[in-house]
Amino acid sequence: MTARIIDGKAFAEQVREQVAAHVARLKADHGITPGLAVVLVGEDPASQVYVRNKGRQTLEAGMQSFEHKLPAETSEADLLALVEQLNADPAVHGILVQLPLPDHMNADAVISAISPAKDVDGFHISNVGLLGTGQKSMVPCTPLGCLMMLRDQLGSLSGLDAVVIGRSNIVGKPMAQLLLGESCTVTIAHSRTKNLAEVVRRADIVVAAVGRPQMVPGDWIKPGATVIDVGINRIDAPEKGAGKTRLVGDCDYDSCAEVAGAITPVPGGVGPMTIACLLANTVTACCRANGLAEPEGLTA
Ligand code: NAP
Repeated sequence: MTARIIDGKAFAEQVREQVAAHVARLKADHGITPGLAVVLVGEDPASQVYVRNKGRQTLEAGMQSFEHKLPAETSEADLLALVEQLNADPAVHGILVQLPLPDHMNADAVISAISPAKDVDGFHISNVGLLGTGQKSMVPCTPLGCLMMLRDQLGSLSGLDAVVIGRSNIVGKPMAQLLLGESCTVTIAHSRTKNLAEVVRRADIVVAAVGRPQMVPGDWIKPGATVIDVGINRIDAPEKGAGKTRLVGDCDYDSCAEVAGAITPVPGGVGPMTIACLLANTVTACCRANGLAEPEGLTA
């Protein structure tokens, strides 16, 4: 069997178009423009790229983008004061503090300071608790993107066996909660899981969020299963020339694609969905703040 390739780039484009259409309606019908504030502390090069892309895509969707770039030596108190200011600003519907933060800051304290209604990353404990109890919440962007792709591929997920490899707060745990919400039978695997190959082999849905290049080989995959590869790992690529590198996922793409029914590539799978879902969450937060109907298909 050769797996269908799930084109995350094209899917993300569709999500962004839906977001832009909803933004246009909000402006035309209610005179409201959703706004996203992104806060970057320090000069981490990868974070700078993410923040730039988020700002650009926010503007392209017709929303307002507020970028706050603070020096690495900013005190936690000053960052908390900025978060308070953004919480109180009616033009800001979503707030994202780019992680990781410098070592002298407590990321949990900063995330807790964000108003849960504006927490478009879905990391605030109120949103974690709401998701865990099956209530309306802000859902973390990467798992939300994975869920959208799974629904698109499979329709109903009810009764399917799902294995999530990885138990981080930003991907593995919320992903497992979302799949449980879809009535999957969910297993969360991690570094201490025994017989991981056997655990993965029974899954109709495999979500790999580990951060270990090509860890999942094709012979762990049940024939026809849907594989969502969240991992982004850079490895040496001597075939491209001396010193060159390339991106790979947590799954060994070639061997998994021979067995799976559908699979996300890396790059071009889950990655592009994350910012698209951030924009979707911002529109959702804006609608909720204004007591308006939420866009369909853009939330969990
Ligand atoms: P993380 O916080 O480092 O968590 C990794 C998880 O993998 C942990 O729960 C760990 O288990 C588990 N693990 C490690 N080695 C394992 C093994 N040998 N077998 C089974 N489980 C193992 O990572 P993360 O933040 O969730 O990110 C995971 C990957 O997704 C990374 O490659 C990251 O770059 C990528 N990512 C992509 C996006 C995107 O596409 N937009 C967004 C976020 C993350 P323990 O808990 O037992 O240590």
